[in-house]
Amino acid sequence: LSRGTYRTIVGIIGDESQIVVESIRAIPGVAKVVPVLPPYKLASREAHPESSVIDVSGVKIGGNSVALIAGPCSVDEEDRMHRIAERVAAAGANILRGGAFKPRTSPYAFQGLGEEGLKRLRDVGRAHRMPVVTEVTDPRLVSLVAEYADMLQVGARNMQNFALLNEVGASNRPVLLKRGMSATVNDLLMCAEYILSKGNPNVVLCERGIKGFDPATRNLFDVAAVPLVHQLSHLPIIVDPSHATGKPDLIPACALAGLAAGADGVHLEVHDCPEVAKSDGPQALVPEQFAEVASQMKGLAELLGKTISPLPETIS
Ligand code: PEP
Ligand code: MN
Repeated sequence: LSRGTYRTIVGIIGDESQIVVESIRAIPGVAKVVPVLPPYKLASREAHPESSVIDVSGVKIGGNSVALIAGPCSVDEEDRMHRIAERVAAAGANILRGGAFKPRTSPYAFQGLGEEGLKRLRDVGRAHRMPVVTEVTDPRLVSLVAEYADMLQVGARNMQNFALLNEVGASNRPVLLKRGMSATVNDLLMCAEYILSKGNPNVVLCERGIKGFDPATRNLFDVAAVPLVHQLSHLPIIVDPSHATGKPDLIPACALAGLAAGADGVHLEVHDCPEVAKSDGPQALVPEQFAEVASQMKGLAELLGKTISPLPETIS
């Protein structure tokens, strides 16, 4: 207790589940209640000072290990998937991406190939020794997607789908949690907390752009979120300049900016023929553009004392 001339400060120590901040705030005469610990206990750096390194079927993300996730927005034709995987792997990508269940703004837009797409993504990934990441849009699909995917993506539109967070939290696959387009950094960390609190410690965060007022870029790339998250949390954070900017011309610079800001990886959409891509063609890098930025990333990573994780020796 600290009694001043105008105000009295009361300090309370204890478990937040016992001390209900809202109830104290409702007591007449209480001007302000200030929790001193972050509400995301498991995700906070205070609880876990060392940076976490997440292993995705042999590819490390975090610490000095950088992820380079690449592939089309949606899983495409099989031969095309092989061609894209071969090109991105040769350029240094270490995780293959592709959506099989797509969260689309319009119900009439292509919704993804479903289980067929999952199977194709996995087979192509295995053929090129690449772990795969794909989005899961519905809690009922988590066990199905987890059968095929090395990492489960929770998309921006589903960041606060708590039933989905609980379900991926109960699965044994690492999770790529994308920041919602209207979510604060605190919101993002609270959503990571859902997953951690269900027993899954393997969470990688992703800054993919938030809503801005200027349609000149698809979203507003919040690069400051990267060092901020590192300050607040031990979890790795990667950047997705494809969705953040929506423009191939802007993507390489933002990928490098993300890495320079300390990101533990970069997530890029790549397609060898963007005009026939099933979704997000206009923001896809072609393999040549990808190879160029990947080589620049490699140089920058070295400068920062990091390495782009190599592909695993074997993958089961
Ligand atoms: C995607 O990765 O293709 C995607 C839909 O991303 P986001 O959830 O960030 O929009
Ligand atoms: Mn996309």
